[in-house]
Amino acid sequence: MGHSGQRPVVQDKYSWEEPGAHEVADGVYRIPLPMPQDGLRAVSVYALVDAGQLVLIDGGWAVGNSVGVLEASLREIGFGLADISQVLVTHSHRDHYTQAVALRRLTGAHVRLGLGEQASLCLTRQHLTHFPAGLMDRLVRHGAGAVVEQLRKGPQQPPLDAGDWADPDSWLSDGLVIELSERSLTAVSTPGHTRGHMIFYDPEAKLMFSGDHILPHITPSIGFEPDPAASPLGDYMSSLEAMFRLEDCALMPAHGASGGSSHARARALLDHHDVRLAQTLAAVKDGACTGMEAAAALPWTSRQHSFASLDPFNQMIAVNETIAHLDVLAARKQLTSQAGSAAIHYSLNTEHEPLNYRQAGINT
Ligand SMILES: [Zn+2]
Repeated sequence: MGHSGQRPVVQDKYSWEEPGAHEVADGVYRIPLPMPQDGLRAVSVYALVDAGQLVLIDGGWAVGNSVGVLEASLREIGFGLADISQVLVTHSHRDHYTQAVALRRLTGAHVRLGLGEQASLCLTRQHLTHFPAGLMDRLVRHGAGAVVEQLRKGPQQPPLDAGDWADPDSWLSDGLVIELSERSLTAVSTPGHTRGHMIFYDPEAKLMFSGDHILPHITPSIGFEPDPAASPLGDYMSSLEAMFRLEDCALMPAHGASGGSSHARARALLDHHDVRLAQTLAAVKDGACTGMEAAAALPWTSRQHSFASLDPFNQMIAVNETIAHLDVLAARKQLTSQAGSAAIHYSLNTEHEPLNYRQAGINT
């Protein structure tokens, strides 16, 4: 497969979390930062050395001593926070974005984010809640009112601070080429995980800074944001297909070991969603008809946990994920959806035309 200059893939699933500045390609350092009380355990930011300064991919989560860990890690390679000229942020989730804003406050670094995140940032500042109203309403419409109730009664996290969610200095658009002194990066729009998610592609070094779009060990959540798209999973699968129009690269993900193949992992994620689509369709065949009922019938995580064994937060993610799969099946005309008085119901589409009929071009 041979990515030139690529370091060996870290085999241990957790060793990527060890603090420090780890050189993962020429002039590229991976720096894990803390994520207290979060199942993801750590978030990696990448420091790119460029003409004596640093460009950061993602900022980390402005929490606890994260900025201190970043500073100590940069010191290992002879740099300080003041050397960061700009932060390119893959998406507006708190573990990627909030510390970019904090760094700007400290050092004046220029912060850039995908234009598709604008509405979510704005809504986050308006509502300052961990459980965005748009998303919660969607869950209720799909029969998961009890899960929403549990979440609202559960342990409360400290309120959000509007200052963490300030707008970036500039918005990135799809295909924008960011010319640095020693490399050029292309911002590629990859909606799905969030609407405005961007990856940063270095075709010359064959590196892909993939944020949460492609993760090596887990499947990213889909459409967990205040302003979800109509079909987050449809968008996500298209964004995975788009990876094959770029060269195979060494993955530089935000969570997990770096160095895997972008093509191999995009293929594996597409295969995973094909299996989940088939399982979701089978759940409806077996009688499930709301998003909540389908989620309750499916196995969860690679360990096949039952829905009932998940905590309310993960149940919320699971229902959201199931709705995303149901909506792709509806878009493919395998299911129909009906908004009843209580909740949206899905049923098998008995009038579904075989796909080859349409592929033959008879229906134009
Ligand atoms: Zn994320």
